[in-house]
Amino acid sequence: MIKKIDHIGIAVTNLDEAVETYKKLGMELVGIEEVDDQKVRTAFFRVGESYFELLEATDPRSAIARYIDKNSGRGGIQHIAMQVDDVDAEIVRLKNEGFLLIDEQARDGAHGNRIAFLHPKSTHGTLLEVCAKK
Ligand code: ZN
Repeated sequence: MIKKIDHIGIAVTNLDEAVETYKKLGMELVGIEEVDDQKVRTAFFRVGESYFELLEATDPRSAIARYIDKNSGRGGIQHIAMQVDDVDAEIVRLKNEGFLLIDEQARDGAHGNRIAFLHPKSTHGTLLEVCAKK
C-alpha cells in the first residue's frame, strides 16, 4: 500500500548552489550523500513529513544528466517517491497490476532507503519511485 509522498526528486545542475537556495527558502538540510550506483550527489531537505531530494549528476550517463539534457540544460522535477512498507512486496504487486518497472529488484537509494522506479511509460509520463526505510 502507498502510505504517503516520501520525497520529490529535483534535478539540479549545481548541487552546492541549489543547497544554498533551498536553505534560504527556509528548509532544513538533513544531509548530503553521494550514491555511486546512480551516479548522483543528493541533498535531502525536510518539509514536514516529506522531503525534497536535490540531485546532481556525477557522470554524464546518469539519469539526472539525461533528464537535464532533455530539459534544455535546466533542472526541474524529475521524480516523485511514494513511501511503502516493503519495496519487494510492492514490486511484485505492481508487476501483477501490469506496471513496467525500471528496477525489477529493489536497490539501495540515498537516505537509507530501499527503492525501485516505475517506468514513466506505464504511469502516464511521470517517473515514480517506491521507497521504504531499510
Ligand atoms: Zn528519489
